[in-house]
Amino acid sequence: MMLEDFKIQWFPGHMTKAKRMMESQIKLVDVVVEMLDARIPRSSTNPMLQDILGSKPKVIALNKIDMADKAQTDVWLEKIKHSGLPVCKIDCAPGKGVKQLISAVQLAAKPVIDKWLKKGVRNRPVRVMIVGIPNVGKSTLINRLVGKNKVMAADKPGVTRGQQWVTIAKGLELLDTPGVLWPKFDDPSVGFALAVTGAIKEDVFDREQAVELLLDLLIRKYPQDLQNKYAVSLEQGDDVNAVMAKIAVARGCLKSGGQLDIDKVVQLVLRDFRAGRLGRFTIDEP
Ligand code: GDP
Repeated sequence: MMLEDFKIQWFPGHMTKAKRMMESQIKLVDVVVEMLDARIPRSSTNPMLQDILGSKPKVIALNKIDMADKAQTDVWLEKIKHSGLPVCKIDCAPGKGVKQLISAVQLAAKPVIDKWLKKGVRNRPVRVMIVGIPNVGKSTLINRLVGKNKVMAADKPGVTRGQQWVTIAKGLELLDTPGVLWPKFDDPSVGFALAVTGAIKEDVFDREQAVELLLDLLIRKYPQDLQNKYAVSLEQGDDVNAVMAKIAVARGCLKSGGQLDIDKVVQLVLRDFRAGRLGRFTIDEP
C-alpha cells in the first residue's frame, strides 16, 4: 500500500451545500475561529474558508494538543504565527487554553471595533463563530464557552431557528452552532490524515489500507510507542505485515482455525490510535 494510492470516495454535492451554508452564516459574524486538529494542522485546514472570509479576521485554535506530539505542536504554532495569523493551542475537553483563545478573539476584533467607533457605533457586541471540519472538537468548545451563560436567546435575521447568540465574555457573542467545513482531500496524504484521525466516516475509505499506512508511519517515526503499547519487539526490517502479525499474536487476534485475524488487528489499532492510547503523534509534518 502506497500513500499515493489511498482513495476516498467523496461526493462533491455535500461540499457545495456546506459552502453555501457557511457563506450565509459568516455574513453574520465579525470574527471567525477556525479550529484545527493539532495532529493534522495542514490536513484539517480548508483553503475554501479563506475565499469566503475575505478580509474578515480569523483566529486559529489548534485543538487536541493533548493527542499531538508536543515538540511538533510548537513548531506548527510558530509556523502559523509566522504566516501572520493569531493562533492559540487548546485542549478543549478539560478547557485548557480557552481563556487565551477569548483574549485572542478580542484582540483580533479590535480593528472592527475601532471602525465602528469611527462611525459612532458604541457598545455593539462582537460576534464570533467557530468553524472546522467534522469531529475536530467544535461542539466541545462551544459547550465549554457557553457553559452557564446560555441565556441570551435572540431572533436575529439569517440565523436558523434553534441557533442562538450567547454572551461568552464582555462584548463578545458566540453563535452556538458551529460552521462545518468539509474537508478537502484531492491529496491522498490529506485523505489519509483525515481518515485515521476520525474526521471522515469509515464508509468512504478502506480501513485496512488506512491502518497499513498508519503502522508504516508509526514504525518509521514512533516505533517505541508501538512496542510499548502492544508488548511486541520490532526488529530492523520489520514491515507492516510483520508488525501486524506480531500484534495479532501478542493480542490473541486469532481466528478459530488459529490463523491471524488481521481485520481484528486493524480495528484494534485504529481504535487505540483514535483514543490516543498509542501515544501522542503529529501526522502532518510542519
Ligand atoms: P465537532 O464535530 O467538531 O463538533 O467535534 P466534537 O466536539 O463532537 O468532538 C469530537 C470528539 O473529539 C469528541 O469525542 C470529543 O470528546 C473529542 N475532543 C474534543 N476536543 C478534544 C481535545 O481537546 N482533546 C481530546 N483528546 N479530545 C477532544
